[in-house]
Amino acid sequence: MLKRTGFLLTFWLGWFGSSAVFGLPSRPVEKISPNLNTPVRVLLDRPTSALTVHSPHLALYLSTGNSIWKRFGKELRIEVIQRAGQAEFKIHNRRIPEKFFYLRGGALASDQVLYRGRKYRGALRFSIRGNSTWVTNVLPLEDYLQGMLASEMSPNWEKEALRAQAVAARSYALYMMRHPKDPLFDMEDGIQDQVYGGVLAEDPRVNQAVQDTTGTYLGIQNDPVKAYFHSRCGGITETAQSVWKYQATAHRYRVHCPYCQKNKFQWQASVGLPEFFKALRLSVSPSIPFRLLPQVSPSGRIASLTIEAGTENKTISSDQFRSLLGYTRIKSAFFDWRVGKESIHFEGTGSGHGVGMCQWGARGFAREGKTYREILAYYYPGVLLYNP
Ligand SMILES: [Zn+2]
Repeated sequence: MLKRTGFLLTFWLGWFGSSAVFGLPSRPVEKISPNLNTPVRVLLDRPTSALTVHSPHLALYLSTGNSIWKRFGKELRIEVIQRAGQAEFKIHNRRIPEKFFYLRGGALASDQVLYRGRKYRGALRFSIRGNSTWVTNVLPLEDYLQGMLASEMSPNWEKEALRAQAVAARSYALYMMRHPKDPLFDMEDGIQDQVYGGVLAEDPRVNQAVQDTTGTYLGIQNDPVKAYFHSRCGGITETAQSVWKYQATAHRYRVHCPYCQKNKFQWQASVGLPEFFKALRLSVSPSIPFRLLPQVSPSGRIASLTIEAGTENKTISSDQFRSLLGYTRIKSAFFDWRVGKESIHFEGTGSGHGVGMCQWGARGFAREGKTYREILAYYYPGVLLYNP
């Protein structure tokens, strides 16, 4: 048993060592070749009080980055203490002097760790910065993809659509690994990036799609691109420039989407005028007559809106407009409206920002027998597929 553990620890340290995880935050930013051994760092939590970590296996292992893994029982209670404006971790009433430590759920690289009801592969990194604490999941990229894909696309969808989604998500993650959001993490685990739920969010069909495309990503001159995707484009996709004023080489073209042109997804929403004025932060009375003047992008989407109400006059992008009224309510930027006595009524088509791959369109192509390569080539014109 000891011998087995020793071998496996070496394996693990090799994995961490190769990725220089222990040296964080000194991640090289110039060039990371997309490498399956490069772990991704996903922010899970910013705990402020005591928490418990479990191992579903035999024991928990802790390291403060000095290559020594200390064995504990199956459960660890970690306290977060504030002392003179600095956060500190305590385990079993003993202070951890280091600014960070790693925890993993067993001796095997594949062993999982249980945190706040979710199981994770790889290791958890507990970090301190000033008076705040951060918990990240550090794990191989391919394991991460298995834990996020089913949250972004139904596992019951066609195999080629799932494969296209796996490659798009991998490209996004690789881009974020080169352009981390924070010195402590590459991405968050929510809708800000890609929704990641760990092992319990995995699905056999999704895992297969990840494995079928292992290491394949979308890039330009070998550099992974931040491959955006959305639910339904409404008939034509959109450029990143039009939505976010963001010059992205990978998202500078619009393409017509045969599926969405045939299958219109219509939505409606009504917003009371007081709520509308409040959401848009207009200080004038909601009873004041107002005008909404749209600026339309070549796709037909609303790129920005000017609101004229009494003495107020403001212009905001349609993405900001959707964000202020709620993305789930104003589902896309393809919309029209009618102002009533007490409310404003919106009617639109499509769902999501419209940039990059249209997921329903991808599914439509997959049903027609197109491969994931063909689907990706269609929705990301000018971008190439790179194999490991
Ligand atoms: Zn579409």
